[in-house]
Amino acid sequence: MAERFLDIPVDPVDNAGAIAAARQAVAGDRPPLLVIAINPEKVMKAQRDAELRDFIERAGLRIADGVGIVLASRLRGGRVRSRVTGVDLMLLLIEEAARRSWRVFLLGARPEVNEAAAEELRRRFPSLVISGRRDGYFRPEDGAKIADEIAATGADLLFVALGSPAQERFLLQWGERTGTKVRMGVGGSFDVLAGRVPRAPAAMRRAGLEWLYRLYREPWRLRRMLVLPVFLVRAYLHRPNRTEAER
Ligand code: UDP
Repeated sequence: MAERFLDIPVDPVDNAGAIAAARQAVAGDRPPLLVIAINPEKVMKAQRDAELRDFIERAGLRIADGVGIVLASRLRGGRVRSRVTGVDLMLLLIEEAARRSWRVFLLGARPEVNEAAAEELRRRFPSLVISGRRDGYFRPEDGAKIADEIAATGADLLFVALGSPAQERFLLQWGERTGTKVRMGVGGSFDVLAGRVPRAPAAMRRAGLEWLYRLYREPWRLRRMLVLPVFLVRAYLHRPNRTEAER
């Protein structure tokens, strides 16, 4: 069962649990899986954005991307124990795809970034089958055609890097038509793979300090990050299992 943060659900899974769910979806043992990464910023945004809320409710797997969610869960004795970042899960899914001969489609980012991301994935996972790919600069009215293109490649996994909310919109509107079994919006991950945006050093990532590194690289993120303390306090005060007497 999902744990709710300000009424937004997050599933208490770790990487292994997320991969297991994907395996079931590809095997047809559960419906196609829509994956969304949730961080405090998204929880706060969803308070005002009904479309985003609807997407999160429909997703089969809501992963806790960001230490803020894990911290909030700890503070109130919840069940979300591990952070499952979007980029990490994407790479784990792709590794699993290479191992099990699942077919992968990469949709999004600029043409040269999309190509460089595919090249990097082939370098890391030589047995990976990229059934198809295309950049993310198309007219919204071409959505159906692109979904059919994806379906024609027989892809099992679909990664969509159009940024938000475009990637969520694409997945809601056309996800089913692609016939893929696992679908995930991955934001700027192709840029990271293509080496356009460096990730934090491993030691910082392990210490849960990727946010600090990103702040150092991109100081304008500060405003976005300021939602974290607000989120923590509100999530704590609105913990679902509080008794009426405590309120
Ligand atoms: N993008 C795209 N089509 C567009 C606009 C953006 O494919 O029409 C891509 C862009 O090239 C980048 C990604 O979407 O690779 C957006 O990454 P960002 O980090 O901004 O995503 P977010 O912060 O929304 O997760």
